[in-house]
Amino acid sequence: MDVQGKIRWGVRRFVPWVYPALCELCGGQAPCAEHPWMVCMEPRCGRCAQRLPEGIARGQSCADCVTNSSGLAQVLALGDYGARSDWKSWILALKHGGRPDLSQPLGALLAERLKVSGNLGSQFVLVPVPLYFWRRLHRGYDQAALLARAVSQGAGAPWSQALYRRRSTVAQGSLHSRGRAPNVSEAFGLHPEAIDRVQGRNVYLVDDVYTSGATLRACARILRAGGARKVGALVLARAVRFA
Ligand SMILES: [Zn+2]
Ligand SMILES: [Zn+2]
Repeated sequence: MDVQGKIRWGVRRFVPWVYPALCELCGGQAPCAEHPWMVCMEPRCGRCAQRLPEGIARGQSCADCVTNSSGLAQVLALGDYGARSDWKSWILALKHGGRPDLSQPLGALLAERLKVSGNLGSQFVLVPVPLYFWRRLHRGYDQAALLARAVSQGAGAPWSQALYRRRSTVAQGSLHSRGRAPNVSEAFGLHPEAIDRVQGRNVYLVDDVYTSGATLRACARILRAGGARKVGALVLARAVRFA
């Protein structure tokens, strides 16, 4: 073990004893009451990550996905995104609170979720859902790309910014779910030089929230047209349906 390795080993071994882990969001002792890390594997639909009603086994399809294909081979989510969801404060801080550093712990959790799913393989690649240029400029960082990089480090899988956004789309939250699809269908493109990164591969899109799924489906269509074998998605949280 070299010197750096010894230091790293020492830090990992002894620091948690001297300095207890702190909440990444507020700095209180972790897990703090306000911002718990919850990664319980609730039964969720294998196609859209919606929470399943009682009695339906994990990984089965929900009623929506039985009738309408989600267009995605699989969606993995850590939790729900809704008024009473603990994930909301983490995601809002990451997206709008100027906390790009949260992509590290959140990405590490996504990496664990991905490893447990058993979908990693030699033909696997992570692709972040791209942010529009101006929004990236305004925010100063691209949270999906940061997440994808953190997942890549945690899971030991490659990632590629293979997609780009042609134009801005109206913020998803401001449209009803039915109005979303036409808005995003033409919004994405595949970088020609990235085609061999996705061709014949199992691609997992990375994003913060699965809202209506329209964005992820539009990205999946582009990736399949570019030769991806299978397209799934990995998100921090799944929006709770209001209906
Ligand atoms: Zn906290
Ligand atoms: Zn479903």
